[in-house]
Amino acid sequence: HVITKPPPEPSPLRKAKFFQANMRILVTGGAGFIGSHLVDKLMENEKNEVIVVDNYFTGSKDNLKQWIGHPRFELIRHDVTEPLLIEIYHLACPASPIFYKYNPVKTIKTNVIGTLNMLGLAKRVGARILLTSTSEVYGDPLVHPQDESYWGNVNPIGVRSCYDEGKRVAETLMFDYHRQHGIEIRIARIFNTYGPRMNIDDGRVVSNFIAQAIRDEPLTVQLPGTQTRSFCYVSDMVDGLIGLMEGDNTGPINIGNPGEFTMLELAETVKETINPDVKIITVENTPDDPRQRKPDITKAKELLGWEPTVKLREGLPLMEEDFRKRLGISRKN
Ligand code: NAD
Ligand code: UDP
Ligand code: UDP
Repeated sequence: HVITKPPPEPSPLRKAKFFQANMRILVTGGAGFIGSHLVDKLMENEKNEVIVVDNYFTGSKDNLKQWIGHPRFELIRHDVTEPLLIEIYHLACPASPIFYKYNPVKTIKTNVIGTLNMLGLAKRVGARILLTSTSEVYGDPLVHPQDESYWGNVNPIGVRSCYDEGKRVAETLMFDYHRQHGIEIRIARIFNTYGPRMNIDDGRVVSNFIAQAIRDEPLTVQLPGTQTRSFCYVSDMVDGLIGLMEGDNTGPINIGNPGEFTMLELAETVKETINPDVKIITVENTPDDPRQRKPDITKAKELLGWEPTVKLREGLPLMEEDFRKRLGISRKN
């Protein structure tokens, strides 16, 4: 009898899910002699994405020049005698109602499966992970302003629930991985954020009003117009997120600007600052639109020493400048 040895079992991770999936591969020393040839070979397989870590002591970027700029390739300058600590900022999820409602099943998958996978990754590599949750977890809030102890008022079967409930489950997953597996977590509850690089036509109120004002189109205030939001400039937001990641608190912590405006007030402010000739009209609203929203940021102030510094009237012109460049429309006078 010839006894043939069974082939070695693939590792459980490969066996389970990754065998067919794209693989991210980290190659340290990938700018060196053998490493760069290994990278060439790995890059031949279109399912592979390669990340090289190298300090260029004996190797050189030149060895990798054919891959620099390739969409499946990343290069990190790092000395491996220093710990390579990984932190995950988990932002992936459409944020604009138009886009998250476009394919709601995909939105809930992104929030639930996406967050589960990123927690699985955090568990495997021992990374700290920060979730960008949302003020939408408070739904149409019956408490005003909203602090983190409020459990919210969310319609579980409404058209916004793929996002609201998705983020609520994402928060649950974060805390269950924290309690069950000791993962270091951070949860930010982000309130409406605006600034340069927002999608021009993504349907959110600040981007809509600014684009409309620049294009000389009427500002579309959705009824009743007395609903409120509190708008945070993006540089303040980023400072808050980094402060939360670097601090000792899991959160959830509200990160937002408490300056509260009705949509009619916002339209008036955009009109005054960007185009005094523009018209303001009212249009139909969408279902389940929250009537009021304003963060209580006591916790962020006390625990992170953070508070926003950019007022709406200061932030709008910065966004206007970016939108004008991208739309190719300069100021009239
Ligand atoms: P955005 O839509 O500009 O950015 C989201 C990014 O995630 C995009 O680059 C998108 O391509 C990517 N993405 C979406 N689904 C993905 C998927 N399945 N896999 C990988 N990538 C995916 O939105 P944003 O305003 O930058 O928001 C970032 C985060 O902040 C989101 O998690 C959002 O829920 C949260 N947030 C934003 C606001 C806000 O006002 N902007 C408010 C509350 C919460
Ligand atoms: N996961 C991932 N990348 C990793 C490790 C895990 O995307 O590096 C995914 C994996 O597919 C799994 C999820 O994270 O579905 C949760 O992982 P965990 O190890 O917690 O659970 P299990 O695999 O045991 O279900
Ligand atoms: N809104 C508006 N005009 C628009 C777009 C939105 O009046 O062109 C209103 C919308 O009804 C909501 C508020 O602006 O009350 C904020 O909507 P957005 O989609 O920006 O974000 P949300 O806070 O609802 O996620």
